[in-house]
Amino acid sequence: MARLISVVIPAHNEEENIIVIVDRIEKVFHELHYDFEILVVDDGGTDKTLEVIEDLAKVKSNFFYIEFSRNFGHQPALKAGLDHAKGDCVISLDADLQHPPELFRQMLEKWEEGYEIVYTRRKEDPTLSYKKRKTSFYFYKLLNSLSDTEIEAGTADFRLMDRTVVDVFKNFKENDLFIRGLVKWLGFKQYAIDYIPEQRFAGASKYNLAKMRRLAIQGVTSLSVRPLHTAAYLGFFFSFSALLYIPYVIYAFYSGQEVSGWASLIMTVAFFGGLQLIILGIIGIYIGKMFMQTKSRPNYIIRSTNIPHHR
Ligand code: UDP
Ligand code: MG
Repeated sequence: MARLISVVIPAHNEEENIIVIVDRIEKVFHELHYDFEILVVDDGGTDKTLEVIEDLAKVKSNFFYIEFSRNFGHQPALKAGLDHAKGDCVISLDADLQHPPELFRQMLEKWEEGYEIVYTRRKEDPTLSYKKRKTSFYFYKLLNSLSDTEIEAGTADFRLMDRTVVDVFKNFKENDLFIRGLVKWLGFKQYAIDYIPEQRFAGASKYNLAKMRRLAIQGVTSLSVRPLHTAAYLGFFFSFSALLYIPYVIYAFYSGQEVSGWASLIMTVAFFGGLQLIILGIIGIYIGKMFMQTKSRPNYIIRSTNIPHHR
């Protein structure tokens, strides 16, 4: 019996893309000797995405969908897909066709060679806007300088995961998901494939600068506590530097020199006031994460699905 491949697609307002991507995936599998299923996760959109996928599910026996009760975000949508896929391996990709399904063949070859995770690396795309390229560049730079788990530039959530990996991942009870970091952290035998991304087929990108920033902060703080260490080191550095003032103060006192240091004083106060707030903020972010995690709410809520018995 042929092995089953699950294809997971998170979709948020992608009405015009679904038909096209399903079509292309089917073409790819037509030339391969695998069974496959497609699982689209409708992440609380406002357009006709749900209608489109419901219609597809009526005519295709290997097409499944999950509808969220609201918009939970890309990462929870991906998690839902992984939780409910039943293939021997799971391939995840975006709905907008920036991730070419034609790469599946190569990914599956590597999987057959024994790699448990086959991830993809986006080659620099000259058609991407300057702003997007720059934000992406700084995103990874910042991420890696602040975190313990290294994330390679250009890796998105376009990857193949073997069943063993998916099962490990399913048991994670993390509230705050940053899947590409988690996957790196998991280990296993990983293989990278470089590819040239295509342009988004229809619709607009759902990631704006604010969302990117949030993802960056989340990326760092959900993978490591290094920012807290940095705060502690800064504290040590400045307290020891402050000790150097003591001889000067004593000298100034005995030599009767007037200290007219209003400017330097106010600058110091403002600087350290700011620094303390930043560090408090960092601590706050981690406390917030603990708070959310202690509630242990689910990552997502399913409103409807055509998956039999919610396997
Ligand atoms: N997405 C989602 N929920 C969201 C935002 C995005 O499921 O809240 C999906 C979206 O439909 C797409 C993928 O995540 O399949 C990547 O989103 P997008 O293409 O907007 O990101 P970009 O490629 O611009 O980084
Ligand atoms: Mg995209």
